[in-house]
Amino acid sequence: MEKQKKPPQTPTVKPRYTLAETMAQFSTEDACKAFIRDLRWPNGVVCPRCKDTHVHEVTKKPFHWQCRKCNKNGYRFSVITGTIFENTKYPLVTWFQVAYLMCQSKKGMSALQIHRQIGSGSYETAWYMCTRIRAAMKNETFEKLIGEVEADETWIGGKDRNKHWNKRSHAQGPHLSGKTMVIGAISRKGNVVCQMIEEAGFKTLENFVTETVSKKVTLMATDENFGYRHLGAHGFVHQTVNHGKAQYVVGSTHTNTIEGFWSLLKRGIVGSYHKVSKDYLPLYLNEFTFRYNHRNDPDIFRALISSV
Ligand SMILES: [Zn+2]
Repeated sequence: MEKQKKPPQTPTVKPRYTLAETMAQFSTEDACKAFIRDLRWPNGVVCPRCKDTHVHEVTKKPFHWQCRKCNKNGYRFSVITGTIFENTKYPLVTWFQVAYLMCQSKKGMSALQIHRQIGSGSYETAWYMCTRIRAAMKNETFEKLIGEVEADETWIGGKDRNKHWNKRSHAQGPHLSGKTMVIGAISRKGNVVCQMIEEAGFKTLENFVTETVSKKVTLMATDENFGYRHLGAHGFVHQTVNHGKAQYVVGSTHTNTIEGFWSLLKRGIVGSYHKVSKDYLPLYLNEFTFRYNHRNDPDIFRALISSV
């Protein structure tokens, strides 16, 4: 049986700056604020409310501006208004360190590991920051996948043997044992996109593929799951491998790339996060997707700060 080389782990390129360099560059609140300002408003400060450019700096309050266009008494905003850093009491210096660690750890880092690395604040603080950063990792403009694309579903979480006996589900089937289903599509040389799904009916699978994958793909590869049966009729060049018959690679038809991403995600979740509840799974999907899609970007940290 032919096995394809596993897709690269994330990230694959050396970061532009080391942790020490990043900490030195962003050692003051003002340095962090100036960085956010320049990323948010490369062509000059814009009012976050009305998008007007005629804003005035607030005297003696650096990184604060006033807009009279949307409020005649002056609407005041700061460099962090409308970002994940707003309304938090934590220093930006700490936020930046947490963001850096989350970008650079290959398999993801738990809040506990981050808390230990940072060496300040509480575990709860680290957890809160990680959660907000994961939410920000979603804020990207989405483009449909092109090239050779694979789609697949997988089950995440809910290992019965790790639970106390009275919490074990004795029901049959993964959907009753605390596992959550995730569907994903991946362009072999490009990006991945995935989301949680409630069931794997053909409408769900089909909608996911038509929403995330361009019809101009040269190949749309899936396994034999019946749910994908109409993709050809929808205009995709659809090829399948029959895993049930131990068929894994037929010419260029295989789903090894998406399976590589699933194993990365599962190793990360099992190794670093131990247990991820259904409520937080979408945030972890954001995180693993973001890192994967920036695996060749030496400035992934900058990309993250731009999306807060
Ligand atoms: Zn305004």
